[in-house]
Amino acid sequence: MSSALVQDSSLRLLALGDGFIYARALHLAAELGIADLLADGARPAEELSRLTATDPGTLHSMLRALAGCGVFAERSPGCFALTAVGECLRSDHPRSVRTTIAQSGRITARAFQHADHALRTGDGAFAKAFGQPFWEFLRDNPEEGAAFDTAMQEHSRVERGAIVDAYDFPDTGRIVDVGGGDGTLLSAVLQARPKTTGVLFDLPHVVERNCIGEMRLAERCEVVGGDIFGDLPSGGDLYLMKSVLHGWTDPDVLTILRGCRRAMKPDSRLLLIERVIPPGDVPHTSKAFDFAMHVMAGGQERTGDEYTRLLTEAGFTVGRFIATGSVQSIVEAVLPSSQL
Ligand code: SAH
Repeated sequence: MSSALVQDSSLRLLALGDGFIYARALHLAAELGIADLLADGARPAEELSRLTATDPGTLHSMLRALAGCGVFAERSPGCFALTAVGECLRSDHPRSVRTTIAQSGRITARAFQHADHALRTGDGAFAKAFGQPFWEFLRDNPEEGAAFDTAMQEHSRVERGAIVDAYDFPDTGRIVDVGGGDGTLLSAVLQARPKTTGVLFDLPHVVERNCIGEMRLAERCEVVGGDIFGDLPSGGDLYLMKSVLHGWTDPDVLTILRGCRRAMKPDSRLLLIERVIPPGDVPHTSKAFDFAMHVMAGGQERTGDEYTRLLTEAGFTVGRFIATGSVQSIVEAVLPSSQL
C-alpha cells in the first residue's frame, strides 16, 4: 500500500472521529436559533453573540466551523448568512429540522455518553442517562414530549410526499395510523385520498397534541388515545405503522404485530414504514439509526429478511417491499387468507 494512501486513510479516520465536533456545533446552532436570526440576511457574529448571550469569539469559531461544512456562508470576514442547507434550520421553513437537531443535542447526545453501557449489556442507555425509560421521560417532561412530537412531524413532513407517491393508497376505506404521533402522515394520506376516513392512534397525551383539526380533517378522522400493547382500533381497511417498530425489541414487535392482526379484518392490509437496512456496505442512514436505536432504546432498524421473519411469525403474509424517494421503505403485509 502506498504511503499516500495510508496517510489519506489516517486523515479519513481522524475526520470521522471528529464528527462529533460538527454535530455539537449544529445542535447548539439549532438550540440558539441562529438560523432564525439570519432569516432576513447576513449578520456579523458579534451581533449574533449579543442576541444569543454567547461569547463572540467562541460563537464566531462555531459558525466558521459550520460554514466549512456548508450550513452557513461567511459572506465577509466575521459576517454569516444562511446557505440552502442552513435555511432548513429555520423554525418556519416548510422542511425545518431545527427541533429534531436541537433535541438530539439535549437528549440523544446525552444518552450516547452511555453508549458503552448499551454496547456491553445490549440494554438501551437512555434510562441510565435520564433515570427512566424514554416514553415515560417524554410523558413526565411535557416540553420535551412536545418537542419529540414536533421532531417526528419534521421527519414526516420531509418524507410524507415520497411515501404518498410510492404507494397506491386506496380511494376509499378506513385508514388507521398506529403510533401516528400528531397525525402529520395520516393527514397527508387523507388529503391525497378525499373519500377515505382515518383513525389516529397513539398514547393519550400524544394524540392530545394532534394536527387533525388544524388540517381541517376532524370530520373524517377519529382521534383515539391508547396503548399499542392493548386493544387497537378495529375494522380498518389499511393499517399504517411508521417509525414505531424500530423502537422495540423482537418480542415486543411480535406482541404489537399480533395485536394489529387481532384488530384487522380478513382483507385489511398493514404497511410498515421503516428505514429498511439494505444488504452490503452501501451507506444508508438506516445503519447509523440502527446503532442509535440500540443505544437509545434497545430497539433496532431491520433488514427486509428480519421484517419478513417477524411478520411471518406474527401470522402475516409479506407482500411487497416498496422503496420510496425518501430514506423510508414500505413493507406491505396481509393476512394469509387474503391475496395481495
Ligand atoms: N408514526 C409517527 C411517530 C413515530 S415515533 C411518525 O412517523 O412521525 C413512535 C410513536 O410511537 C410516538 O408517537 C409514540 O408516542 C408512540 N408510542 C410509543 N409507545 C406507545 C404505546 N405504548 N402506545 C401507543 N403509542 C406509543
